[in-house]
Amino acid sequence: MADLAPRGTDALQAGSGEGPDALAVSGLTHRIGGRVILDQVEFVVPAGRLVTLLGPNGAGKTTLLSLVTRLYTAQQGEIRVFGHDVRKESSAALSQMGVVFQQRAIDPDLTARQNLAYHAALHGLSPRRARDRIAAELGRMGLTKDADRKIRTLSGGESRRIEIARALLHDPRLLLCDEATVGLDLRSRADILADIRGLVRERGVAVLWATHLIDEVEAEDLVVVLHRGRVLRQGRARDIVAALGADGLNDAFRRITEAAA
Ligand code: ADP
Ligand code: MG
Repeated sequence: MADLAPRGTDALQAGSGEGPDALAVSGLTHRIGGRVILDQVEFVVPAGRLVTLLGPNGAGKTTLLSLVTRLYTAQQGEIRVFGHDVRKESSAALSQMGVVFQQRAIDPDLTARQNLAYHAALHGLSPRRARDRIAAELGRMGLTKDADRKIRTLSGGESRRIEIARALLHDPRLLLCDEATVGLDLRSRADILADIRGLVRERGVAVLWATHLIDEVEAEDLVVVLHRGRVLRQGRARDIVAALGADGLNDAFRRITEAAA
């Protein structure tokens, strides 16, 4: 029978690259109202890599991201961003991080540019730097022509891309995306994911991509399978499938979660 131990030789081990990992989570346990939501979670996002945090609704993805971004404080365990402990050195850790939340978090009555400028000011960018970065990110996203439209007049995909542009304004080296493509049509989903992969390839941004959509995973991607608060598997998607003798990632995911039920 296939080995379903949570960690093995394919684990995303800390210190696998040069310099500190973009994100290193160890021994992370979190309870809400006495219920264990995350149970001894452990994984890394190597610098300059994309890691998919794959788990069904209720797995604990958003809770995990809330702990990384310090919305909640971890009760047990450690979270480091480029070596900085998010609890003890939160500003050093947070300044390296950009976040796209699961819930829309953008003012519909402001224009794209106004939303971006507000965020840039929050991050302490000078007006000139803010102007340059906003122009650069809107240009990269192909949204320059929409800069002065109110968010409520944009499509779901366009407004999501503005949120991604916003998360990148301060040039973070780690981007956290929580179900960033949910509710979008296939084309918009594919465009956004292609753009994120481009960021990783061309700018060396590390990405934690939280999703319940298995079809967003490619064979060479690093994957952390989270289920009911526990990491059931982690490693390269291709290796996880091969180790289980599974017929593709859908089959592998089904076997992993059924074995844990
Ligand atoms: P995911 O993002 O993977 O769908 P969540 O992190 O949102 O998962 O939720 C994980 C589990 O924690 C779920 O069972 C959810 O009901 C529970 N949970 C999350 N936030 C709260 C909260 N504030 N109060 C009670 N339960 C919560
Ligand atoms: Mg969620």
